[in-house]
Amino acid sequence: MSTVPQTKSEGASAPFYAPVGQECELFETAYNNELPVLLKGPTGCGKTRFVAHMAARLGRPLYTVACHDDLSAADLVGRYLLKGGETVWVDGPLTRAVREGAICYLDEVVEARKDVTVVLHPLTDDRRILPLDKTGEEIEAAPGFMLVASYNPGYQNILKTLKPSTRQRFLSLDFDFPSPDREVDIVMRESGLDQDRTKNLVRLAGKLRGLKGQDLEEGVSTRLIIYCATLIMAGTPIEQAIEAAMIEPLSDDQDVKQGLLDLVTAIF
Ligand code: ADP
Repeated sequence: MSTVPQTKSEGASAPFYAPVGQECELFETAYNNELPVLLKGPTGCGKTRFVAHMAARLGRPLYTVACHDDLSAADLVGRYLLKGGETVWVDGPLTRAVREGAICYLDEVVEARKDVTVVLHPLTDDRRILPLDKTGEEIEAAPGFMLVASYNPGYQNILKTLKPSTRQRFLSLDFDFPSPDREVDIVMRESGLDQDRTKNLVRLAGKLRGLKGQDLEEGVSTRLIIYCATLIMAGTPIEQAIEAAMIEPLSDDQDVKQGLLDLVTAIF
């Protein structure tokens, strides 16, 4: 069986997404014009939520694939499997999306193996076709099919970067953490925490993000602030919640963590 971590969602009402700029309009225009979109930005800043929101808004089923370094083209496209003594072809999530006219979201696409780009290229130009070498089929994407990929430029090392020949096939949207006011709204809405305490958490996150590149590889994500607020709402003492959700996930170095805890004391 295929072990591709994937989910399919459809028909749900649009999950809450607070726009940061004109990204919803741009995505909709890209969809209407059958153009693929690449979402760039740090982890936990709302890319996945944005795609889920837009898919529901546009009334399209959504296939989400979390890419990893073992993910191959066959995992996306499909493969022959043995079923009850017979060999049958089973579509992968990309092929299903192409046939159904769904949105296919490849999360952290640079993590995938190199052969994945080969199947993406003919889908990202005006041919919009998916050649299935194994079955000899050449599938034309059904109306409504859209390819969306994301990557986090911060993770990149010299070996793991999107080739220009691939990235120049996508419209690109740059994502970042929401402004403090917007982030307060999002965290309050997602966790139910009151405004005063949420404002302090967001202020702390801003300070921690300021340390990115010095002591920290990544700043604290919106997702982690929501985790922290959720713990507090569930009765966890605030210091413990901050340590578990906003300090420990950022570093394993005792000195760095102590420095971060000092920042917490300065704010709370
Ligand atoms: P990414 O895909 O960029 O790693 P996610 O989309 O999973 O991040 O975002 C993490 C969480 O942060 C979401 O589950 C959501 O609760 C929240 N979030 C971040 N940005 C927004 C936003 N603009 N509107 C609504 N929720 C957001």
